[in-house]
Amino acid sequence: MTTTLMEKLTIKTENKFRTLTTKQSYKKGEVICPIPSEDLRDKPNRYTVQIGRDKHTHVGKLAALNHSCDPNVILDTENMEMVACKDIEKGEQLFFFYPSTEWEMDAPFICLCGSANCINVVAGARFLPLSTLERHYLSPHIRETVIELLNHTQRNLEKIKS
Ligand SMILES: [Zn+2]
Repeated sequence: MTTTLMEKLTIKTENKFRTLTTKQSYKKGEVICPIPSEDLRDKPNRYTVQIGRDKHTHVGKLAALNHSCDPNVILDTENMEMVACKDIEKGEQLFFFYPSTEWEMDAPFICLCGSANCINVVAGARFLPLSTLERHYLSPHIRETVIELLNHTQRNLEKIKS
């Protein structure tokens, strides 16, 4: 699987900053590669992608995938596939929207992607307004956690009335 993956993708390192670029073009909706899931963790780190409530997978070479607020790939954690969400040219750098899988990140950072919809602080979906989240594809565990939080606000009425 890893061999197949790296036949299609290249990792470039410049001043310790890694980027993932593609060696071929993709059409929007095309599957690029599977997401590795052999090495599961219960806590996030810089090399993991969240795939469930308390489930993080070490993604190996895909850890070189950088964040953008205007991404060209999504990580479909239901089918465990990286999918092009735009037409992508050969040689382009690949980006995904980190909060689409990450609820609370281990290492938040400031985004300099320059997109009109830049969220600036990338710390996980937990720290973003619904008006931002609704514009993106979100993994099921992110969607469920947001819905659960909203459902729990009913308890605030109980607190007020008690
Ligand atoms: Zn940004």
